[in-house]
Amino acid sequence: MAVRTKLVAGNWKMNGLREDGVALARALVHRMVAAGAGGPGCELLVCPPATLLTTVGGLIAGSGIALGGQDCHAAAKGAFTGDISPEMLADVGCTHVILGHSERRHGHGEDDTAVHGKILGAWRAGLTAILCVGETRAQREAGTAVDIVASQLAGSMPSQAEPDNLVVAYEPVWAIGTGLTATLEDIAAMHAAIRTRLPAQTRILYGGSVNPQNAASILGLGEVDGALVGGASLDGESFWTIARNCPSPQPPPRERGEGGPLGASAMRHPTGARTRAPKGAGG
Ligand code: PEP
Repeated sequence: MAVRTKLVAGNWKMNGLREDGVALARALVHRMVAAGAGGPGCELLVCPPATLLTTVGGLIAGSGIALGGQDCHAAAKGAFTGDISPEMLADVGCTHVILGHSERRHGHGEDDTAVHGKILGAWRAGLTAILCVGETRAQREAGTAVDIVASQLAGSMPSQAEPDNLVVAYEPVWAIGTGLTATLEDIAAMHAAIRTRLPAQTRILYGGSVNPQNAASILGLGEVDGALVGGASLDGESFWTIARNCPSPQPPPRERGEGGPLGASAMRHPTGARTRAPKGAGG
């Protein structure tokens, strides 16, 4: 069984003018360079607003930090005013796209069928989809959280899902941007429940008010393969500190000795193989 390298993804949401995006990207690249070959010990992904993709993509190109979109349309092109196609994201260097975020599901009425179509579109363009699922506060209090998440997965995850084309992010809606986090027990239980519904080795991130203070305990949970970070990803030092709190990947005992604590598969930057420099972007 291969090691699941942790992934820490920053969702900048609708934040940042060009000078903010440039400063944040430069701060992260600076830390990557200073950290050397191992980087922070996990994969890093930033998902800036669409207006900053090209600028940020140019700054992070070659740094080992991957670029992602925050949403996309299912179609490759057409009369969809205001939308962005997966192909357009790939064209500017994105390797990932966040889909089904609760702010899209609740603020824009996106249902599981729409998210399913967007994931297929993302795959058509060669992007890895980060599928967000999560229950509301009322659903958690009603004891239906696992059923809700299971139903979101069943409705939105295409059958061709594989570990290298899909990442799932469990984000309790009530924990996003509120400063509240699920208990470690609830996170572990939900991730275990999600794990039984995914292809083996698919990564499951936790999202919901992850910050430098709580990152170590959350990222230390066995079934947590990283974090989707909103507010704290807007500050270079906070985002970096969260990433630095990822425990080193530990291969299963029978595979130890095949390459040290950070073996060849862990050191390889799985996003790197698929990372594209934006066309025309400098290093
Ligand atoms: C998010 O936007 O996916 C998120 C988890 O936000 P925050 O970290 O601010 O709760």
